[in-house]
Amino acid sequence: MRRCPYLEELVKDKRAFLRVYRFDCHVDHLSKRKYALSDSPPICVRNFEDCPLYQAEKRREDDTITRYTD
Ligand code: SF4
Repeated sequence: MRRCPYLEELVKDKRAFLRVYRFDCHVDHLSKRKYALSDSPPICVRNFEDCPLYQAEKRREDDTITRYTD
């Protein structure tokens, strides 16, 4: 499974007919929830490169590396 490097924890739960995904993001330090009727994991384990938080943090890290290597 492809997984965002900033994903701290992903827990999948089932409540009646709902899937509940709880995921903790290292970038904004928030614990989030996603509710779905069928299997539909959050962006963190799919196309995480499209996530604005991922993009911002990756850019920040890349800038830091560039500053140290220049
Ligand atoms: S995909 Fe986005 S929300 Fe999910 S862990 Fe990565 S940065 Fe955070």
